[in-house]
Amino acid sequence: QTGANDLQTKADRMVQMSICASLARKFPKVTIIGEEELPPHDVAEELIEDGHCEEILKKPCPPQYTGIKEEELVIWVDPLDGTKEYTEGLLDHVTVLIGIAYGGKAIAGVINQPYYNYEAGADAVLGRTIWGVLGMGAFGFELTEAPAGKHIIVTTRSHSSALVNDCITALKPDTVIRVGGAGNKIIQLIEGKASAYVFASPGCKKWDTCAPEAILHAVGGKITDIHGNSFHYNKEVKHMNSAGVLAALRNYDYYASRIPNTVKQSLVP
Ligand code: AMP
Ligand code: MG
Ligand code: MG
Repeated sequence: QTGANDLQTKADRMVQMSICASLARKFPKVTIIGEEELPPHDVAEELIEDGHCEEILKKPCPPQYTGIKEEELVIWVDPLDGTKEYTEGLLDHVTVLIGIAYGGKAIAGVINQPYYNYEAGADAVLGRTIWGVLGMGAFGFELTEAPAGKHIIVTTRSHSSALVNDCITALKPDTVIRVGGAGNKIIQLIEGKASAYVFASPGCKKWDTCAPEAILHAVGGKITDIHGNSFHYNKEVKHMNSAGVLAALRNYDYYASRIPNTVKQSLVP
C-alpha cells in the first residue's frame, strides 16, 4: 500500500511486469511508462506474452500511421485500473489499460475488462477486450448512445471531494452513477450507460486516460481536462491530470459549456 487513497496490490505489480516486459521484448525501442514503480529485476518467463491478435492484424493500418518508427511511440500502462474497487470485490469495475501515443496524441488503446460477466453465470464468457485505433474505429463492444435528453453523469466512487460534487450538482444531472476506474467510466460512455464523465479533481494520471482517450476518440467522442484542454502523452509530460477529466461520446460541448468558472479556477492544469 502506497497511501490510503493509492493502493497497490500484488495483482497490480504482476500485471505490470507481464505487460511491460512482454512489450519491451517485442518492441525494444518503444518508451513504456507504467503506473507502478517496480524494483528492477528479471521477469519470470511464464509472465512473457508472445502472442498476437489475428483480428487486429487483418485490418489495414490507417495510412497516417504506416511510417511511424518504434522509437516514436510511448505506451502508457495501467496494469489494474480501479484497484480500490478490486480490493472491495467490485470486480467488473477493474480494467487493464494499454494506451499508445504518437506525437503526444493518444492514437490507439486497449481496455481489457478481466472480470466482465463475472456475475452472469457459469455459461457466460468471462472477460473481454475493447480496443480502438484513431482512424480505424473501436471494437469488442457494441457502440450505444445514452438515452437522448437525459443527463446521466458518471464519476468517481472512491475519490470524491466537495469540488467534485459541486461540479456535478451544477450540471443538474438526472442521474449520477458512481463507479471505480477511468477505463470503466469510458465503457459506461461508449455503451450508453452514461452521457458524460465528470471528475473535477486532480488524481487521474496519463496511464488512466491514454487508452480510454484513444478508444473514445476513435468512435467520435471527446475527452479533455475540465477546462477543455486536450491531454498530451509525450514521454516528458507530467503524469498527473491536475485539472480533472471531462468526457462524452456525444454532446461534449453541452457539458463543457456548463462547467462553473469557480470550479475551473480551483483546478490549475
Ligand atoms: P476513480 O474514478 O476514483 O476510480 O479514479 C480513476 C483513476 O484515477 C484511478 O486510477 C484512481 O486511482 C485515480 N485517482 C483519482 N483520484 C485519485 C486520488 N485522489 N488519489 C489517487 N488516485 C486517484
Ligand atoms: Mg488507474
Ligand atoms: Mg492502477
